Amino acid sequence: MKVWRPGRIGTLELEHRLIMGSMHLNLEGRDDQGAALAAFYAERARGGASLIVTGGLAVSRVGAGGRMYALINEPSGQQALRPSIEAVHAEGGKIAAQLFHAGRYAFETSFGLPPVAPSPVYSSFSRSTPTELTEDGIRQTLQDFADAARVSAELGFDAVEVMASEGYLVNQFLSPVTNQRDDDWGGDARRRQAFGLQLLRMIKDACSLPVIFRISGADLVPDSSTPAEIADYAVALARGGVDAINVGVGWHEARVPTVQTLVPQGVWVPYAESIKDAVHDAGVDVPVIASNRINHVDHAEQILNDTAIDFISMARPFLADPRIVATSRTRRLDLVNTCIACNEACIDRSIGDAEVSCLVNPRAGRELDFPEKPPEPVEGADDSALRIAVIGAGPAGLEAARSLATLGHRVTLHEAEDELGGQFRMARQVPGKRDFGETIRYYTKILDELGVDVRLRSPISATEQLSGYHGIVLATGVEPRRLDLPGIDGASVLDYQQAFADPTAIGRRVAIIGGGGIAVDLAHLLLAGAESDDLAAEQAAFGAEWGLGGVAVTSESDRTVTLMRRTGKIGSGMGITTRWAVVGAIRHHGVTMITGVAYRSVTEHGVQIDTDDGPKLIEADTVIIAAGQQPNDRLIKLIDPLGIPYEVIGGAADTAGLNAVRATSQGLEAAHKL
Ligand code: SF4
Repeated sequence: MKVWRPGRIGTLELEHRLIMGSMHLNLEGRDDQGAALAAFYAERARGGASLIVTGGLAVSRVGAGGRMYALINEPSGQQALRPSIEAVHAEGGKIAAQLFHAGRYAFETSFGLPPVAPSPVYSSFSRSTPTELTEDGIRQTLQDFADAARVSAELGFDAVEVMASEGYLVNQFLSPVTNQRDDDWGGDARRRQAFGLQLLRMIKDACSLPVIFRISGADLVPDSSTPAEIADYAVALARGGVDAINVGVGWHEARVPTVQTLVPQGVWVPYAESIKDAVHDAGVDVPVIASNRINHVDHAEQILNDTAIDFISMARPFLADPRIVATSRTRRLDLVNTCIACNEACIDRSIGDAEVSCLVNPRAGRELDFPEKPPEPVEGADDSALRIAVIGAGPAGLEAARSLATLGHRVTLHEAEDELGGQFRMARQVPGKRDFGETIRYYTKILDELGVDVRLRSPISATEQLSGYHGIVLATGVEPRRLDLPGIDGASVLDYQQAFADPTAIGRRVAIIGGGGIAVDLAHLLLAGAESDDLAAEQAAFGAEWGLGGVAVTSESDRTVTLMRRTGKIGSGMGITTRWAVVGAIRHHGVTMITGVAYRSVTEHGVQIDTDDGPKLIEADTVIIAAGQQPNDRLIKLIDPLGIPYEVIGGAADTAGLNAVRATSQGLEAAHKL
């Protein structure tokens, strides 16, 4: 396969074509001498990553994206990075330092310094107006980058990547939206290139490491750089001696989703292709790296085969599965733990100060806390393995079973239904969430591989079924919350589980009581229909919907859907990077959303509500209740008297603030507690 062919970036020889892209983890600023960060990178190097690009390493305090960023020009930051470099090299990997300055995306709260930028243009991301850099300030910033490049070489990094994309400082200098100067550093397209090109020159003078520039293939903000200007910039960088161009897309302020579940895979590849064409046509053919929404190795292979692109950068897929390379090389693709693009434990956390992990791999970032090796045998015992029953095979139970088996225990997984997955079986039907089904596939295969005794259609109802176990994990999940409302037992009323079980049985006019994540997903499914298998068609529809070279389209469905919520916003509780995109998508599809309602009754005509404007009937053929959940914890009464250790996890333990991240995390933690 082409993806496994060796490649080269400047003087750097790489074993294959998959690069682990930069992810800020918030482990960088931990007070642990860099130990957790080193363990995280080491595991991925051991799993076959050829080149790992670090999260952004701030070249100065004012340029840090948060207070947990590593400060590469400061001794404490350097000390925290050394173990990572050594650990990656010890595993035979290579590691590039990403040199970073947030510009107007910095937060004053991080280090008490007001953000700086080419021009004082308000940022809705950092919610501040930056101070305009003076000529001296620009010179100092360039020097900070050059110093950081020199330090990178001294520390032993194998390459540097300049973060010149996603709307950060270097990108801000290129864009007419954020660079409104009229001096050597701005004024026309050529002068807006000056900062990046001077940066490249100074970095190359400061060190002999290969230099990658991560540029923005499209900013996706109104009036920003044109495709021609971006291509011209790429050519200028190539002429200036850059060793590779990594093509990112979209700013934090862009109102077009770029990395969420509803973004079709590979939709950004044409932007990298156009950069490749530009440098090729200009006769300065440097390697080009495609990134964003590529999370299957076979898809990476297809891109390399179908285009002239040289490398594929994957970031989140390495969080989800540190062994994605090693496992894929043996063609055991069924054992790859696929990133589902939920962003819930990664990007959503990285925007704040919380440590990044992964919904489908809760060990990510916590490798030292949860070592995956069997415990030492207990003296006098045959071995240290325990017989453990896990009851319930939703995300929490699946992760508990996997972790327990990895620790060497003998695990039996009891599931009442005829398939694993719990609520993920509903989620995988939602447009853009097909990969939630990949999580079910992964756990099905890995549990089989680990020898877990999986018993489907095996509800627990008697204590005899639990005899002989040394411990129990109860992960029976949730049930839809019932509402006490006149008419709620009518024939046209379904709970959300019944609705997901057979969406075709739902009427043409739908009223959904509830406006949280499940209600939003259901509305999306009912209007957009299931995801098509035709990726090209999905990409085209996405482009039209979000105005990428087309006119936004509205739903062709003749169904009407009304979402109602008593308090809070529609979709509140969803992840920060996902909510706006999905709510925007259902708005495109014509969903009516009403908040601040009081429910009066359900009748044969629909739902009677009170609003600020008075009473109103929401006409509906089908009424769906998606107004929360309650724990399915009835088995506690059965288990508690047995006198054996047990853990209750996931929705069975508590539904307040429940999400799948917490569920899988509790699965992992329970396995290490028992
Ligand atoms: Fe992917 Fe979600 Fe894990 Fe992030 S948290 S790496 S998006 S599966």
